Amino acid sequence: MAKQDDDFKRVISHAKEYGYVFQSSEIYDGLSAVYDYAQNGAELKKNIREYWWKAMVQLNENIVGIDAAIFMHPTTWKASGHVDAFNDPLIDNKDSKKRYRADVLVEDHVAKIEAKIEKEVAKAAKRFGDKFDEAQFLATNQRVVDYQEQATTILKRLGKSLAAEDLADVKKLIEELDIACPMSGSKNWTEVKQFNLMFGTKLGATAESAMDLYLRPETAQGIFVNFLNVQKTGRMKIPFGIAQTGKAFRNEIVARQFIFRMREFEQMEMQYFIKPGTQQEWYENWKKNRMKWHLSLGLGAENYRFHDHEKLAHYADAASDIEFRFPFGFKELEGIHSRTDFDLASHEKHSGKKLQYFDYETRESYVPYVVETSIGLDRMFLAVFSNSLQEEELANGSTRTVLKLPSVLAPTKAAVFPLVKKDGLPEIAQEIIEDLKWDFNVEYDEKDAVGRRYRRQDAAGTPFCITVDHQTLEDKTVTIRHRDSMEQQRVAIESLKGIIHEAVDMKGWLKRMDVS
Ligand code: ATP
Repeated sequence: MAKQDDDFKRVISHAKEYGYVFQSSEIYDGLSAVYDYAQNGAELKKNIREYWWKAMVQLNENIVGIDAAIFMHPTTWKASGHVDAFNDPLIDNKDSKKRYRADVLVEDHVAKIEAKIEKEVAKAAKRFGDKFDEAQFLATNQRVVDYQEQATTILKRLGKSLAAEDLADVKKLIEELDIACPMSGSKNWTEVKQFNLMFGTKLGATAESAMDLYLRPETAQGIFVNFLNVQKTGRMKIPFGIAQTGKAFRNEIVARQFIFRMREFEQMEMQYFIKPGTQQEWYENWKKNRMKWHLSLGLGAENYRFHDHEKLAHYADAASDIEFRFPFGFKELEGIHSRTDFDLASHEKHSGKKLQYFDYETRESYVPYVVETSIGLDRMFLAVFSNSLQEEELANGSTRTVLKLPSVLAPTKAAVFPLVKKDGLPEIAQEIIEDLKWDFNVEYDEKDAVGRRYRRQDAAGTPFCITVDHQTLEDKTVTIRHRDSMEQQRVAIESLKGIIHEAVDMKGWLKRMDVS
């Protein structure tokens, strides 16, 4: 646990030091669970968004993208079920006065059990070496089997009590598991209560005429209410999808873990409209497709897993999370939900407008079913950033901090250095920048020894460093250094664009989705 905490602290301080993420309004001591993306963070975030958008909208002929408003008619949230059911179960500790999400307390307890399993696996892997068969070990080692059973039983019980809104049983579970307040160690808990997560606001100039509004807690509803507009104007045929990225707001009870859980965050969602009865097939299909997208970025297959839901949200008939190994353990990164016709049917009822699809071939009208994929852009940022931050032992015994961002996502693709600040080298470096800047984000750096400049760019995540030296004056060649291998090549200036393009081009990366 302590190592996890240290790793996570390192991620947070690195994000600040290298201009990725700042605490919001820091000069006023910040605002809890609100963050700003800094100069490099804004670029990384934009690149992740674009990588998602291209995979969804550009590569799928039957998926289109929209950009709906954050404010929506208040009845939207009545119809979607958010007014009545978008609650989290909260519990207070009477001694520390700290507030927690009851389900998260239980899930954290289960995560500790899972950590024990991982420890046993690591121990056994060390003991048995090459002969170690993890699957067999997990199935036959009695201690591990017992841990696994404990974890499953607890999660099943939690899922059942939450689905039945049996909050008394959730409290009982917390007591039976002997869960203590992480701050104070006290086990003196209040009852579990429901808490609505939507932020309210007002539209209108005078108090009398003002209309109560909510800041949207998810982007999906902007897609549902536009379903027919898009279908008709785009002449879309089922199955088809509507994609959107944008801000969402939730008054989270426990907003910690940096940008993992924020009160203002960004979602990337896609609603896929399908014929009723085909939802199982499309649900499996999108699970596979989304996992391929993740794997194409090369963060390591071992860092992802599916978690199928026991407890289903009010709108879903099947749901699964793609979980990622964050510095604090496996947690939800993306949700894939089979939402049935819940949303469209409910909007039909509340608006009095027909939201049906007419199938010209079968001559029938129906309310489509929906399978959605929903990923938090900020969580994806944290997944990429934390996974990429590495401390490496070098052959000479020193260490280097390197941010091995997938080069397609890196904010700056190349830094250009003159070896020294004279003899015309800075001018050539500037010329190279002038040429490359039309295609890539590039940076000029002439301060300090080249070794230190390399280290600085390694830590900032820049995949290439280009150095202009005296040989350049003679033969128009430079050295290009690769961040991950630290390998240096002597290449012609005119070949730089091609080399960088080959490494960072989105097309090449996205094509990996077909093979992974
Ligand atoms: P959690 O269980 O972690 O609260 P959720 O199941 O409520 O998440 P969804 O409603 O399925 O989340 O939202 C889809 C995605 O939006 C999540 O997978 C996550 O990546 C992202 N997300 C949700 N809430 C937040 C938040 N407060 N901060 C950042 N990202 C979030």
